[in-house]
Amino acid sequence: MPKLSAKSQAKLNTCHSDLIRLIEAVAETEKCAVICGFRGRYEQEQAYREGKSKAKFGQSKHNLKPSMACDIVPLPLDWDNIPAFERLGEKIMAKAKELGINICWGRDFTNLKDYPHFELIG
Ligand SMILES: [Zn+2]
Repeated sequence: MPKLSAKSQAKLNTCHSDLIRLIEAVAETEKCAVICGFRGRYEQEQAYREGKSKAKFGQSKHNLKPSMACDIVPLPLDWDNIPAFERLGEKIMAKAKELGINICWGRDFTNLKDYPHFELIG
């Protein structure tokens, strides 16, 4: 049964409890990794400079404590394998609905399609 690595779990633990229970439930059947939970000022500014985020520090849900956003990737990781991201994302959205957790998916952002990004609404 797939489970999160210690590194992924540590990142997930910086997130809101709803994200933790959601991603832990998804990880029981899906091979995935958490690549980002909370982002401090330094990490956010670095992500902004690298074009990985359009938000400056304080504008991203990753900057809240606990983090209201979480970035998840399918394993094995291949950034060009969009169908794998779509498949994992659909599973996450379905599980969120099942658990009554209100989230949105970065794939549905209009300015920058952010496939690994999931954030709590409200
Ligand atoms: Zn994100």
